[in-house]
Amino acid sequence: SIFLGYERLEAETRIHKLARRDGRWYVVLVETPFYAESGGQVGDHGLIRGKNFELRVVDVQKEGDEIVHICEGPENLDISTPEVFAQVDPQWREPTMRNHTATHLLHAALRRVLGEHVRQAGSLVAPDRLRFDFTHFKKIDRQELEEIEWLVNEKIQQDLPVEVIHTDYQKAVQMGAMALFGEKYGDRVRVISIDGFSKELCGGTHVRHTGQIGPFVIVQETSVASGIRRVEALTGPRAVQFIQQSRDVVQDLDQLLNCSWEQLPAKVNSLVEQLRQTERALQRLKARQLLEQVDELLKQGKKINGITLVMAEFEDVEIDLLKQLGDRLRQQAQSTVGLFVNRWPDRANLVCAVTDDLIEQKGLKAGQLVKEAARVAGGGGGGRPHLATAGIKQVDKIPQIRKYLEETLQKFA
Ligand SMILES: [Zn+2]
Repeated sequence: SIFLGYERLEAETRIHKLARRDGRWYVVLVETPFYAESGGQVGDHGLIRGKNFELRVVDVQKEGDEIVHICEGPENLDISTPEVFAQVDPQWREPTMRNHTATHLLHAALRRVLGEHVRQAGSLVAPDRLRFDFTHFKKIDRQELEEIEWLVNEKIQQDLPVEVIHTDYQKAVQMGAMALFGEKYGDRVRVISIDGFSKELCGGTHVRHTGQIGPFVIVQETSVASGIRRVEALTGPRAVQFIQQSRDVVQDLDQLLNCSWEQLPAKVNSLVEQLRQTERALQRLKARQLLEQVDELLKQGKKINGITLVMAEFEDVEIDLLKQLGDRLRQQAQSTVGLFVNRWPDRANLVCAVTDDLIEQKGLKAGQLVKEAARVAGGGGGGRPHLATAGIKQVDKIPQIRKYLEETLQKFA
C-alpha cells in the first residue's frame, strides 16, 4: 500500500483486499491516508466510504508492506464498486501529530537538562496524551522537571519549522540524528529536524510548526523499571483542560480552608498537625476513662473458689491500653485474673493479667492461660506470668473462652 498521510487526511482510492475476521473487516487499500501504528504513534481512526457502505476504521496495523485497516461495519457488504473515499478523522490525527512533535521536543529537552545519557526506551503517542520512557537513574526533581517543561514550551513559542529530510542512514547519523536502539532502518531514512534543537529518525506524522502544539504540561514523572523513568504529558486543548481542572481543585481547597492558594501547603500542614494532636489527646482521654473502670470491673468479677475472674470486652481499644488496664488491675486487686478482649470485625486481641499472689501461691501463669484460652477460638499467644497477650480469629467463640477460663480456675482451688 502507498501511504499518503504525511500530506493529506483524505483520498479517493480503491479496495485492494478485504477479509472478515472475528466480526471485523480487514481492509487493504491501494493508497491510504491512514497511518498504521508504529514508532509509538497509534494507528489512525476515521471512515472508509463506498458506494453502498460505510466502514468505521478503529485501528490500523502494518502487515509486511501492507497497511491493514481494521474496521467496524455491517456484516454484509456490497463491494461491487471497489472505489472508496478514505477519510482520517482530523479530531484523532491532529492532536496525535501535536503529541508526536511534542515528544521529540521533550526527548531533546530531557537530554539538554538531564544529560546525554538519556535514551528513548519506549513511547506512546495518542490523541489524548503522550508518554515517554527513557534511561535515567534517579527521580527527576521538581526543578529539573520545570526546566524541561519550560524548555519545551519555549521551543513551541518560537514556532519553529518542523523539517522533514529524506536521506540515507549514514548521512542521517552523521548529521546527529537520534536513532532508536535496536530499531532496524533501511538505507533511505526520514529525519524530523526542529531547528537544530531536535533531530530524530522517525516515520511518524508531525505538525508543520511547533506553535501548533499549543501549551505543553507534564502531568506525571514515574519509574517504570530499574533505570527507566517515564514522563507523561498533555498538549493543546488537553493541556488547557488539565490546567483548568488543577485550578478548580485549588480554588475549591482555598474556599474550604479559607485561605489563598499560596497559603495552602502551610494551612494543610498545620491542619494535619492539629489533627495529630487531637488524636493524641483523645487517646489519653480514652486511656484515663478506661483505667478508671477498674474498680467497677472488679465489682462485677466472678468469684471462683477464692479467685476473682474479671472479664471485659471492648471495641476500638489498642492492645497497649489493654495492657495498661491489666497493670492497673494487678496494682489494685488480689487473687484476681483479668482477661480483656478487644473486638475488631474479623478478629480480637486478648490481654491476660494475673496478680502476684496467684502466681506465687497457685502457680497460675498469664502466658499459659491466655495461650490455651486463645486456642479455644483458633488463635494463639503467650507472654510472661503476670501479663500476656493473644490474638483470635473466631470472634463468635468468645463465650467459650469465658467458659474455658471458669472451668480452669475451678481446678486451682
Ligand atoms: Zn518520532
